[in-house]
Amino acid sequence: PTDPGIPDAQKSGSVQADRSGTPMVEVRELHKEFGHVHVLKGVDLEVERGSVCVILGPSGSGKSTLLRCMNELEEITGGSVLVDGELMGFRETTDKGSTRLHRLHPRVIAKQRSRIGMVFQRFNLFPHMTALENVMEAPVQVRGDAKSKARARALELLERVGLSDRVDHYPAQLSGGQQQRVAIARALAMDPELMLFDEPTSALDPELVGEVLAVMQDLARSGMTMVVVSHEIGFAREVADKVVFMDDGVIVEEGPPSEVIDAPREARTKDFLSHVL
Ligand code: ADP
Ligand code: MG
Repeated sequence: PTDPGIPDAQKSGSVQADRSGTPMVEVRELHKEFGHVHVLKGVDLEVERGSVCVILGPSGSGKSTLLRCMNELEEITGGSVLVDGELMGFRETTDKGSTRLHRLHPRVIAKQRSRIGMVFQRFNLFPHMTALENVMEAPVQVRGDAKSKARARALELLERVGLSDRVDHYPAQLSGGQQQRVAIARALAMDPELMLFDEPTSALDPELVGEVLAVMQDLARSGMTMVVVSHEIGFAREVADKVVFMDDGVIVEEGPPSEVIDAPREARTKDFLSHVL
């Protein structure tokens, strides 16, 4: 009943808070500098729950850095990132009208990060473990799940990504597309609320791209919130709720695919699309 203007989620910061009305991701005036290199120059982005946001942009425009800031793989140098209504990496305190940010304990950061799944361009599977063992690893080692439970869930996830017949194969015995599907199953094993994909198909031979995009499309249909850096324009058109075009550390243009891809307003967006379409 107090402070009607402030959503409860932001007021309490407790896990029980109802955050269903807030976006899954809220990036505000985000800056990231590496030494003298100013990579993100004030990025504002919202990703609604259950939606898919596809990020396009030329190499070096800051797409990977933006994703890494969402997952706290990078320490931000200005602005804020909220996931599920929670400030990532920082605790906010206010005294006498001014706001101060305090770095969170690494253990708290690790806990926040465990709610976010990430899939990279390179598959990053553990080479000495089978597909099944790769998917079981985090639930057993990080969350402390019983092996039998983790195994059952891993088998379910490998079936979901179409790899029931490959569970005992090692990464080296799998194609790039199969490895990437294992990587997706592995990320899903921690029951993330948000999945981040950084050019998940750009290291694949062209004939293997479709099978990975199909798994991602299926995941999107199931209601997963996803942020995807990809230049697969067909995927963006079909699956994205929002397309974001980045250049030189800023968001140049954003909107539904029917606007950003099919009727871009900005010259830089038009120029980029003319090279990838
Ligand atoms: P994109 O994913 O769009 O290709 P990145 O986010 O990888 O772009 O990189 C954006 C810019 O930030 C590039 O100029 C890159 O060289 C620089 N950069 C990225 N990571 C680092 C780092 N760890 N140290 C210094 N510069 C970096
Ligand atoms: Mg990148």
